[in-house]
Amino acid sequence: MEEIVALCKRRGFIYPSSEIYGGFGGFWDYGPLGVELKNNIKKQWWQFMVYQRDNVVGLDASIIMNPEVWKASGHVQAFTDPLVECKKCHHRFRADKLEGDHCPDCQGELTEPKKFNLLTQVLLGVTEENKRQAYLRGEITQGVFVNFKNIVSSSRVKIPFGVGQIGKAFRNEITPGNFTYRSREFEQMELEYFVKPEEKSSREIFEYWKKERMNWYLSLGMNKDKLRFRPHDDNERAHYAKFAEDIEYQAPFGWSEFEGIHHRGDWDLSRHKLKYLDTETNKEYTPWVIETSGGVDRAALFFLIDSFVREKERVVLKLNKSLAPYKIAVFPLLANKTELVEKARGIYQNLQKSYSVYWDDRGNIGKRYRYQDEVGTPYCVTVDFDSLKDKAVTIRERDSMEQTRVSIDQLNSYFQKNL
Ligand code: ATP
Repeated sequence: MEEIVALCKRRGFIYPSSEIYGGFGGFWDYGPLGVELKNNIKKQWWQFMVYQRDNVVGLDASIIMNPEVWKASGHVQAFTDPLVECKKCHHRFRADKLEGDHCPDCQGELTEPKKFNLLTQVLLGVTEENKRQAYLRGEITQGVFVNFKNIVSSSRVKIPFGVGQIGKAFRNEITPGNFTYRSREFEQMELEYFVKPEEKSSREIFEYWKKERMNWYLSLGMNKDKLRFRPHDDNERAHYAKFAEDIEYQAPFGWSEFEGIHHRGDWDLSRHKLKYLDTETNKEYTPWVIETSGGVDRAALFFLIDSFVREKERVVLKLNKSLAPYKIAVFPLLANKTELVEKARGIYQNLQKSYSVYWDDRGNIGKRYRYQDEVGTPYCVTVDFDSLKDKAVTIRERDSMEQTRVSIDQLNSYFQKNL
């Protein structure tokens, strides 16, 4: 973990928030490379969950909503009991229902009982006297439910259908930690999939989404041996869930959840008093919801950990190409030879139209390769003296370190094929 944290800081993936003032517990900033990685994860998610499906549409709801939403959803009530939290596994227990003074799940030490409310309060309004209390959303989910009617009436969705959303959520975590793993501000990527209220078919759909979500992580190169499903016990299930399973990653700090697949039943829609009218049968009913709820930050962290490889002479991030912050780096062999720089500059500007490309003319080629390896750039293009004659460049591939000579006018099609 120390190496990952250091790399993130050194290369501009993740910094502590407001660091010049000593940081702020549970908040992080994504630097020039981190923002690219996170955007790529979100882009891939949207492609897979929204664009590639006939019956899934997108949404971007507001972060602050009418506080009534959180009363109806149960979040105001569910988190105000006196709770203790395990300092190790972070499971929370009602202090009044606990037998013994250690965590029943892992025997870890428990915090003092506190009235927890994970919702972050904000005060809105112009004058000090009339400020209205509201909340930063504790999960992005509720934005979908409160728009259920709008979405059904304004788009052509019919049950079963899904709504995908990516956005920030905030939780007043009392023990943020493990780098970005447990933050107070984080991003979620979620699908709410509305289905008929039937035990058997909804269970099948739950299983379908479990597989889809696992396959997505695998398709982006995550190590199969480090992934597993873990069903929730009865006592850890959230107040809204009929049943739930987590996708966990074997992190350096132990198996850790980074996505939950939840069967929310009719909990939310019935709390918001929302129903669906089946126009074919003319019957009204409350749909059930299968939810896939992943953390963008946790996914980013685990993609970084999973792709981090220390080889004899180098550190490489073997990130899937689609996630790599820079796809290509372009170098003139020497920085002080105008013909080389001009030629390389032309190639760089041309590739910039289609890819995120890095320009480097500092130090020697070996050093530039090491730098690109550390940030996971799949391809380096070098313009050398031969390039001026044979109109070709050397492309070096990150994982194999193999070098190939490719003609400059073939570069676009080369990258189209390989990226
Ligand atoms: P945990 O048990 O770790 O607190 P949770 O079960 O409360 O997580 P959910 O409410 O199911 O989490 O949220 C769905 C996803 O949102 C999680 O799988 C995770 O990826 C992300 N997430 C939740 N809380 C945090 C947090 N404090 N920091 C970063 N990501 C989070």
